[in-house]
Amino acid sequence: MASECVSTSEIPLNDFRRQWDSIEGDVLAATRRVGSRGWYILGEEVAGFERALAAHVGRRAVVGCGNGMDAIEIALRATGLRPGDEVLTTPLSAFATTLAVVRAGGVPVFVDVDGHGLLDFDAAGEALRARRSIRYLIPVHLYGHALNLGVLRALRDEFGVIVIEDCCQAVGAGWQGTPVGSVGSASALSFYPTKNLGALGDGGALLTDDPAIEAAARSLRDYGQSARYRHDRLGLNSRLDELHAGILATALLPRLTVWTERRRSIAAVYLRGIMNEHVRVLPNPENSDSVWHLFPVLVEPSRREAFRAHLRALGVSSAVHYPELIPSQRALGDFGSVTVGELTVARRIAGAEVSLPIHPFMRPEEVERVVAAANSWRPS
Ligand SMILES: *Cc1c(COP(=O)(O)O)cnc(C)c1O
Repeated sequence: MASECVSTSEIPLNDFRRQWDSIEGDVLAATRRVGSRGWYILGEEVAGFERALAAHVGRRAVVGCGNGMDAIEIALRATGLRPGDEVLTTPLSAFATTLAVVRAGGVPVFVDVDGHGLLDFDAAGEALRARRSIRYLIPVHLYGHALNLGVLRALRDEFGVIVIEDCCQAVGAGWQGTPVGSVGSASALSFYPTKNLGALGDGGALLTDDPAIEAAARSLRDYGQSARYRHDRLGLNSRLDELHAGILATALLPRLTVWTERRRSIAAVYLRGIMNEHVRVLPNPENSDSVWHLFPVLVEPSRREAFRAHLRALGVSSAVHYPELIPSQRALGDFGSVTVGELTVARRIAGAEVSLPIHPFMRPEEVERVVAAANSWRPS
């Protein structure tokens, strides 16, 4: 019966079952390769994956880490963050961006975002002019969009700040053809399963062109060792393991370009098709070659849960990125973070945002169902 009807099966935000069906053979082959070699930590697989990813993203060096948050912390420490250094960043991101700053000993400074939800570079420039104590800038290429790298470079050069780019949602994104991660002294990627290059568990990487930062990061991820049992720094244990590096290198990274193209074509259908005065699509920022990690729309904040219930009733999953601003999180309550200005836009987006499903395994009819579900919403 049900199979003859138009499908109303749940469209998930990520479809790991379909992903597994398409990668299973290559994952098992990678597992056999690693298992038969019997070398599990910092070996050929990690080195090979680091080289392949460096070539893919156009950076000189990649250092595999335990996760994206650690990659940010390691980037801050490898570039010489001193305790108490102020780090300008966005209030609208994964909490991990700020948590990495705090763990590294920095003091987060928040300014507002722009209408796309990305760090507002005008507000950032004003803050940098007003607070010469700010030493670092961590922009986040949120939702898979690329920030304006021309402006980022200009801010870096005018104020002499050290830039660490959080590219955890934006692997492969570019601005006017220049890849994200190319302006910062270092940048961070996450291989958390839901990310565009999502592994079957945790993983991350630091990207840099600077050999000194690369060397410091290699030491910091491995207890701060400079040679076996010789510890020059107080490091972390944050290594990408061989098994995951092997899976990333031969089962996942080779598919990233095709997966990204699929995300882009789904986004194009949404951008063309979603036409509802009550559902505002956040457009592609100018000159951003976005990779559409998420597809955010904005609805009236008081009706957000009703909109999500409407989607759910039509079998469309959704999520919110992010319901609460980082400086409002309780964990930061007693910590001396700094907020510059009112964060008006960030607050508005946090109240209004809903993320629609966008993943490479969506079928065309499912994409159309999402469009129809968004278009049929009428707030009561
Ligand atoms: C996922 C994410 C992180 C953290 O990555 P993990 O691998 O989960 O530690 C940091 N910043 C942003 C923007 C992210 O999306």
